Amino acid sequence: MCGVVGIISQNPVASEIYDSLIYLQHRGQDAAGIVTCSNQFHTKKGVGYVRDIFDEINMSRLNGNIGIGHTRYPTSGSYNKEDAQPIWTGVPYGIAMAHNGNLVNKKELTKELYQKGGRFLNPSIEIEVILHLFAGKLEELRSKNNSTNFFNQICQSVNEVFERVEGAYSVISMIISKGMVVFRDPHGIRPLTKGVRTAENGKKDYIFASEPAVFYALGYKIEKDVAPGEVIYISEDGNYQSKILKSKKFKPCIFEYVYFARPDATLDDVSVYRSRLRMGKSLAKLWKDRYPDLIPDIIIPAPATSNSAASAMANELGVRYSEGLYKNPFIGRTFIMPGQKSRKKSIRYKLVPISYEIKNKIVMIIDDSIVRGNTSKEIVKMVRDFGAKKVYLVSACPPINHPCFYGVDIPTRSELIASNKTVEEIRKYINADLLIFQELDDLIDSVTRRGNHNIEKPCSACMDGNYIAGNINQQRMLELEQSRNHERAIL
Ligand code: SF4
Repeated sequence: MCGVVGIISQNPVASEIYDSLIYLQHRGQDAAGIVTCSNQFHTKKGVGYVRDIFDEINMSRLNGNIGIGHTRYPTSGSYNKEDAQPIWTGVPYGIAMAHNGNLVNKKELTKELYQKGGRFLNPSIEIEVILHLFAGKLEELRSKNNSTNFFNQICQSVNEVFERVEGAYSVISMIISKGMVVFRDPHGIRPLTKGVRTAENGKKDYIFASEPAVFYALGYKIEKDVAPGEVIYISEDGNYQSKILKSKKFKPCIFEYVYFARPDATLDDVSVYRSRLRMGKSLAKLWKDRYPDLIPDIIIPAPATSNSAASAMANELGVRYSEGLYKNPFIGRTFIMPGQKSRKKSIRYKLVPISYEIKNKIVMIIDDSIVRGNTSKEIVKMVRDFGAKKVYLVSACPPINHPCFYGVDIPTRSELIASNKTVEEIRKYINADLLIFQELDDLIDSVTRRGNHNIEKPCSACMDGNYIAGNINQQRMLELEQSRNHERAIL
């Protein structure tokens, strides 16, 4: 999972891209980068938080009215500055690119691009595959003096990506002296939203981002989500063109609503906050059905993603909502910290139980999801250490028992607790008195019941194994898992 933003404006864009990255920081805390374009690319990338990478001096070099920014959260590759995005190539024209997603057939395409085109790609930077497929086609059309207009050439080049690349990808690109190119994979798995504002000279400025939280602060209005399989080209002089090249079943990631996106985001016409409230309501119903006589004294969210679901569940059950676990706001989100060791260590630094809220109470903890089980186990232990009489644990997400190959760090079955244990075994492992998981149908209903959207059924492959892109069967899953283990072993 990553955050990506692109702005094409009548004025310099660097500071607005920086602001956007601050708003997208939750989507990736490993590395960040900005590339802007005047008559050349200006680049600054680094490892760590956005606020630590950019300063007055390096920002002052990022000239130009068009630019791309990226916050990185590695699902593959390393934790080095070299793997940070955006990246760029000089042929043809000069093309810079950044993406949010994950490619299923990266390995095969990397090999093929080398064997057929003599292009060496760094195996850990998968956006290079998309960049070189796109650039290769565009160069082929350019060198043939192709007479079709530039937008047609863009469409043919994006089509090359759509035909060849399997997986999830929302891409923002810019081409020197040409403009900005934006596209989203034909299933629309990863989000990408567009905003527009009118500049002082009456022309339009455009912003594209994984989430629209920053739009209001920068004066942009949300116009639409980039459609699955759509390509948008905005030329330097502001001419806007778009086309849907290839559209398959619309399958946005359901985990964005469970965990990743900010609650203030509306993604693909569904409010993340409202969907989380509905998750809480359906959990309350499930609890009442299963344990009508067992009502806790307080309901505490494992902050902060599950706050909304916990407040709705408390309301439905008529139980007091409590912020009995205080979250230190200066510690990063544990789920996206690289490596098990730092993840385990950071939970106690991140959360502090409030003794008065917990002692001698029957406590229900609402967590957004249980992936590896370590966080839940630690939280239950902390609450017990502070004197809870009983601890019930409720997961707003169904058991996650399959890896994600579309951009979220849900790596291999061996690491997923629900892939290896029954619900009762998980309960015992995390030492809760009771444990329930959201039903998958209820989760889907929570996301899709409201909103003027056209999502029939989101991607929930990590919960039901129904992979929609990349023809993932048992054999391929095994190969992809082995390749992930190998990548991590050599880092
Ligand atoms: Fe999202 Fe899970 Fe699908 Fe990955 S597999 S895109 S995390 S719903």
